[in-house]
Amino acid sequence: MTDYDKVLILADIEGSSGCWSYAGSAFKTRQWVSACAGMCDDVDAVANGLFQRGVRQVTVKDFHRSAYNLLPERIDPRCRIVSGYRRGPVPGIGNPAGAEAVLFLGLHAASGTNGFLAHTLTSRISRLMVNGKPMPEIALFAASLAPYNIRPIFFSGCPVACSQAQETVPGIETHAIDKSEGPDGFDAWQWRRALAKAAARSLQNRKVKPYLPGGPFEATVTMRDGEPAARKLALRWGFECSGSEVYVRSDTIHALYRELVRMCYLTPLTERILPLALALFNLQGRLGMTWLRRQLRTRSGNKPEKV
Ligand SMILES: [Zn+2]
Repeated sequence: MTDYDKVLILADIEGSSGCWSYAGSAFKTRQWVSACAGMCDDVDAVANGLFQRGVRQVTVKDFHRSAYNLLPERIDPRCRIVSGYRRGPVPGIGNPAGAEAVLFLGLHAASGTNGFLAHTLTSRISRLMVNGKPMPEIALFAASLAPYNIRPIFFSGCPVACSQAQETVPGIETHAIDKSEGPDGFDAWQWRRALAKAAARSLQNRKVKPYLPGGPFEATVTMRDGEPAARKLALRWGFECSGSEVYVRSDTIHALYRELVRMCYLTPLTERILPLALALFNLQGRLGMTWLRRQLRTRSGNKPEKV
């Protein structure tokens, strides 16, 4: 039995069992093909475990890069897989479909920390400090779901990412993936089984509350490409900057998230034509998925089976 009827899974790739290098998180690389296969298997195992515990609705939001990394035919057909990005009401996610709880799978640690492929929103940011602390993505994503009363019950990623999640969201349950020894000798099947069990157990998690930290928020964003990149962004969006740092201030975490999304993904032009820009971006993702399917078919000798 479970405390939650409807759940949302936010799935990323860096902390999934198939991604072992930056190339695995990139778009249309050989390593990305394996990473997507691993990510699908992780999501499938977790979803399966959730249904077994009596969850009635599982919506999976693909939340990595193109947001087209998950192949529905490889995942429990009872899930609803949502690919591509939506403008709102929840940034990127769209409508959270009545979910009562959210599970974060395959995430990574914050920019400027030493986790596996650590970054916040984009690797162009080398460090993101908010009110003096590194800010991981879970803070922004969990907060964006708080107005819907959605509790962040579970998180999976590298050990650094897990401890950041626990520090950010007290009471969240975690299951780590240790990639320090590399993929050789890593038993993905066994790890995935333990992940699914831990995720299913988190359905009893009633101690965690929807995550909505109070403001104000002072963010210092350090750009990997140094001063020119910082100056360009500051000028473009009207922020203050000094050296390679850009300063963003906001009263709420939602406003901070909005500003960071503008900084990382938009230009004033794409912001003005956002529906069209998103449609084009999502089209590119769909084309990538067609390529991915072809690669996986070739790999498995034209059998549309799992590799
Ligand atoms: Zn990602």
